[in-house]
Amino acid sequence: MDKLTVFTAAQIRTMDPGRPEANAVAVSAGKIVSVGTLESMQPWLRRVPYEIDDRFAERVLMPGFIDPHTHLRLSGTYMGLNYVGPIKSTDPFGHPVAPLPNRDAVLAQLKSLVASRNEDLETPITAWGFDPGMQGGHLDREMLDAVSTEVPIWVIAYAPHIIYTNTPMLELTGVDEQTKLHGLGRYGDGRLNGWFVETEATAVASRPVRDQVYHQGFGVEALKLQGQVALRSGVTTTADMIFGISSMQTEWDDHVTAIEQGVLPLRMLLVPFEGRLRREYGDDIAAYYRTMAAQATDRLAVHGVKYVNDGSYPSMTLRLNYPGYLDGEVGLAGEVAWEDMVDRMMPYWRAGVQIHSHANGDETIDMTLNTLNELQNRFPRFDHRFTIEHYCISTPAQAKRLAALGGLASVNPYFVHYRSGIHADQGFGPDRTEATARLGSLVRAGATFALHSDYNLVVAPMHPLTAAWIAVNRLASDGQTVLAPGERISVDQAMRAITIDAAFVLSKDHQLGSIEVGKFADFTVLADDPYEVDPKNLNKIEVCATVLGGEAQIAANG
Ligand SMILES: [Zn+2]
Repeated sequence: MDKLTVFTAAQIRTMDPGRPEANAVAVSAGKIVSVGTLESMQPWLRRVPYEIDDRFAERVLMPGFIDPHTHLRLSGTYMGLNYVGPIKSTDPFGHPVAPLPNRDAVLAQLKSLVASRNEDLETPITAWGFDPGMQGGHLDREMLDAVSTEVPIWVIAYAPHIIYTNTPMLELTGVDEQTKLHGLGRYGDGRLNGWFVETEATAVASRPVRDQVYHQGFGVEALKLQGQVALRSGVTTTADMIFGISSMQTEWDDHVTAIEQGVLPLRMLLVPFEGRLRREYGDDIAAYYRTMAAQATDRLAVHGVKYVNDGSYPSMTLRLNYPGYLDGEVGLAGEVAWEDMVDRMMPYWRAGVQIHSHANGDETIDMTLNTLNELQNRFPRFDHRFTIEHYCISTPAQAKRLAALGGLASVNPYFVHYRSGIHADQGFGPDRTEATARLGSLVRAGATFALHSDYNLVVAPMHPLTAAWIAVNRLASDGQTVLAPGERISVDQAMRAITIDAAFVLSKDHQLGSIEVGKFADFTVLADDPYEVDPKNLNKIEVCATVLGGEAQIAANG
């Protein structure tokens, strides 16, 4: 060892329960050599040359925050389209774009885009960001035909589980009234309503606009922009939970380039979308994982496999048990038939590939637990870390069953605060909406869980301290009402869920998630101590910087 850098801090919250507090951490070659005090680490300091880095001496150090479910590169795809969403956003270069308050404003915006077309009636108008919950209900074919019956219109929801089209766009997709396709929407009288829901159908709707939407060249820019958002939020590790949806090679290459250029200050795990993996590699998955393992670095690796088995929370397309949606909607399952799920997952299960299975609604969680149960019956495994992604609408009984089967949950808690006012009277009804993200039940059941943002494909920020603040307080958007108080968790449980337990959910807890000897020197630098501030102000703690592999990362202005 040729040199040590010793970071000092007012307080270090290590998240190692055996040695929870410290105020110095010695680092060499990107890894932690000693944690404690300048005094306690003297046996190292006497032997190895060192320098003290005291720029964070007045700050609080935590393990680098881990957001175990994001879509940083894909978000750049959509940000390049015409924005019609309800909250402030930016284009892929960071320039702000204005929100639209409601559906009428969206339709008016689409009309003005059509009007600005002049001669070109053929190129489809492609838009992103519609939120049926916040903007007053879904779009459909008739509404979009009222905008134009000549120019094709293609609108993808903010949570991109649903695409809305007008008649000319429907014609471009090749779909007609006789087409049988999973996820094709129809009016009550059986006519096509212009909806394409979930991956199989959205792929059909996207084919004619593929070059427009998934154009080349935005990927590295998107990673650069979102890398800064992550840095400002204190995130040092994340996982892209739908790797390969546009192209496995291009997406991998963009990440390699962004890391080489030094514009992506993160460790990144890429979790392949199973539908794509199967189409490209068939049954030869072992060879694929071997090939990618050989290319992996400490910063970038392919990890696990991802299934999408129902719709989204903000798009109101998830699957609910009785009594279902307020208006009789039923949501939609993903492209893998539920009865085939065990067979589809079995090769990964047998090969020891960690399964991440998206399930938002309680009906889908039941199916997922049944699947996990059957996988265990046919081929018992320990420490499989099968993870239910999102786990939005669940029951206490499901939490117990998840724990009994050894499963984990990666939960999106943001909806509790940001959407409870919307869905009590729209979509899921008061009971399911209040009890969204039942973290208290997971704690009582003894199941390990992480908190994630799903950024930027749901209508919420990526900010782990906000996720923790919601988990601890469960305040509605009015800032007063406490929602399902028994589902609140402690500050320590919440902080674990964005550090060490998030590392566990990504099978990286031997390397990440706590400040322990031998782990990567990834830290989040805070102005205040999350364990000392009023829990009501957890989300207001300033993130000053991160440290990634021993190197301080300071966000660019903005
Ligand atoms: Zn996602």
